[in-house]
Amino acid sequence: VNFGDRLVSPDEKTRRVGGVFSSVAGSYDVMNDLMSGGMHRIWKNRFVAKVKPRSGERVLDMAGGTGDIAFRMAARGATVTVSDINADMLAVGMERARKRGIDGLFWQQENAEKLIFADGSFDAYTIAFGIRNVTDIPAALREAHRVLKRGGRFYCLEFSTSEWPGFGEVYDRYSEHVIPRIGKAVAKDEESYRYLVESIRRFPRMEAFKSMIGEAGFTTTSVEPILGGLVAIHGGWKI
Ligand code: SAM
Repeated sequence: VNFGDRLVSPDEKTRRVGGVFSSVAGSYDVMNDLMSGGMHRIWKNRFVAKVKPRSGERVLDMAGGTGDIAFRMAARGATVTVSDINADMLAVGMERARKRGIDGLFWQQENAEKLIFADGSFDAYTIAFGIRNVTDIPAALREAHRVLKRGGRFYCLEFSTSEWPGFGEVYDRYSEHVIPRIGKAVAKDEESYRYLVESIRRFPRMEAFKSMIGEAGFTTTSVEPILGGLVAIHGGWKI
């Protein structure tokens, strides 16, 4: 499998992705604001508005990292379990929740490819900027389907490829040259940000990813492009 532009074994990829997020955990939130000019907040708000988590619902926020999606869903009254493979990211998230006085969240270290939760445990499954880091994406999608109740919904927020003429090229130049420099200056870690940029470039196009969601068993799959598809919200239902 690919790790950035290198070929590595699946275990090696999972280990290296772990290294990337352990390295960036401490500066993760400020880096998001810097790299996206604050736009990630708008995308996350739009995503949660689409998921429409309600009071009394059980939601699994997979690859939940430092809690950005979970905090927004908890504010709407949902009972949220934040899962992530990386203990350092979760630790930053728990500390943020404590500082903001958000309680009632469950934090659980999990690999999206193989979850401990029973079949039919959740009303909704969300994954934001996480799926492209998962080594075996089809396995993660099958697990999402398994842990959802019948009538449950799947939503994924992820970078994709903008179909606006010219926009993709401008973004490519920005991401290739600017993001690793910000990573070097702020997070003291150029390599990790090179990986993150490369992983966006390699992620399947919107229609291809939508098909993968269908292959995992979901129906009424959908995709909503943001900025022509630079970012995309994919969805699917378990019936
Ligand atoms: N969802 C958060 C957000 O939107 O700010 C965090 C996104 S962060 C870019 C990606 C997260 O995916 C990291 O916290 C990383 O540890 C997690 N991750 C990577 N591979 C994973 C896996 N196989 N299972 C669960 N989480 C994984």
